[in-house]
Amino acid sequence: MSKRIFETSTAQETPIELDEVTKSYASGMGQVIALDSVDFHVDAGEVVAVIGPSGSGKSTMLNMLGLLDEPTEGQILLHGDPATGLSPAEKTTARRETIGFVFQDFHLIPTLTAVGNVRLPTAFLPDDATARAEDLLTRVGLGDRLRHTPDELSGGQKQRVAIARSLINEPDVLLADEPTGNLDSETGAAVLEEIRAIADEGVGVVAVTHDDLVREYTDRTVELVDGVLTDATWDTRAAATRCGLSWSEHLSSACASSARSPWYRYWRLCSRHTRHAWNSTSGRSDGRAWRVR
Ligand code: ADP
Ligand code: MG
Repeated sequence: MSKRIFETSTAQETPIELDEVTKSYASGMGQVIALDSVDFHVDAGEVVAVIGPSGSGKSTMLNMLGLLDEPTEGQILLHGDPATGLSPAEKTTARRETIGFVFQDFHLIPTLTAVGNVRLPTAFLPDDATARAEDLLTRVGLGDRLRHTPDELSGGQKQRVAIARSLINEPDVLLADEPTGNLDSETGAAVLEEIRAIADEGVGVVAVTHDDLVREYTDRTVELVDGVLTDATWDTRAAATRCGLSWSEHLSSACASSARSPWYRYWRLCSRHTRHAWNSTSGRSDGRAWRVR
């Protein structure tokens, strides 16, 4: 077992959630609906793969989860509290405390060493993070590359530096945009193993991917098509559990009408899933056949 060097206190919690999030853009041709009332959550310790064709809304969804953009409708919830409407400064703080980012092309600063890159997100904080940066780099297998600059590192090593950087502020959620997109399959597999290990310590991971390999390391896959999200691994029992209902409660017929009740939430999740199933069998792709409100 590797030494545990970051602590998340969020086990059994849902660190981040999208509640009926719609994002539309005005364009010359009219409105583009990039996300169409998307419900999504990632649990602590879970790895979720987001798949879908180009233009289906994957980056928009990641931007929402990363508090980099505001929804047109709906809410982003951080640990159950609405993050929509926070001031830019509050958002920056929430992002720094909650979310780590990993990108396809690493986004490393070429003039800084591995340690310099990893501690960069702490530059404006009072404590010196050098020792932590060194620990994280050692943990991802780069203990002998601490003072190397990015041009002295391979692609896989650069991505490991980026992963170490994403963990420096002990995030609850790791958002990865095509994390293995620029890596050969062997290097990619090693990076994914690292991501899996991070999730196993309690971090929720959302990875946008085209890569079949990624799915071997994930707990759940969701698919975006024209901004509509489908859970590709829908499980009614898991949905009931997630909403705080036992299986026998699910089987009983009582249904509270309060929007905050587990029953309401469960009913909405199920209706949404059925709507997607119905749309795909009826050939509708506009996602509006059964609009659940
Ligand atoms: P993906 O990452 O799955 O390729 P995106 O989330 O980038 O898809 O885009 C989803 C849709 O939203 C696309 O039709 C895209 O053209 C549109 N879109 C994304 N960003 C903007 C923007 N800033 N202005 C207008 N349209 C946008
Ligand atoms: Mg994209």
